[in-house]
Amino acid sequence: MTATEHLLTCLAEECGEVMQNATKSLRFGLADRNVLDPTGPTNRERLVDEPNDLMGVADMLADRGMIPKNWRDQEKQDAKRHEVAKFMDYAASVGALQITSSPQHLARGADLAGKKPVSFGPDQDRRALSNERTP
Ligand SMILES: [Mg+2]
Repeated sequence: MTATEHLLTCLAEECGEVMQNATKSLRFGLADRNVLDPTGPTNRERLVDEPNDLMGVADMLADRGMIPKNWRDQEKQDAKRHEVAKFMDYAASVGALQITSSPQHLARGADLAGKKPVSFGPDQDRRALSNERTP
């Protein structure tokens, strides 16, 4: 295995860890911890850790000239935010997503400044995902 192959394997592994943590968060909530590691990080903490691991491996690829040094691109990230917000609108329009205000508020940009943040669905759904307790 070459160094490039090794780093690409690490990149794929980190993508898998991001995916796994996203689904664990959906299944058990953001505040939940692994029952086999009750003092370990919450799913919310892992949702910060794993994307940073992924970016660290991508930086190693950049350090070795395998991808451009300036691989991070705010315009591309903003474009993705707009695309996801657009498809959230579509999902809401077909009844697959419950939202109470436009997902376009999730997209960053001067044209969106000053708008209220998006609110997702009924409070109980939000509480369930964040493991909040009902008062
Ligand atoms: Mg990791």
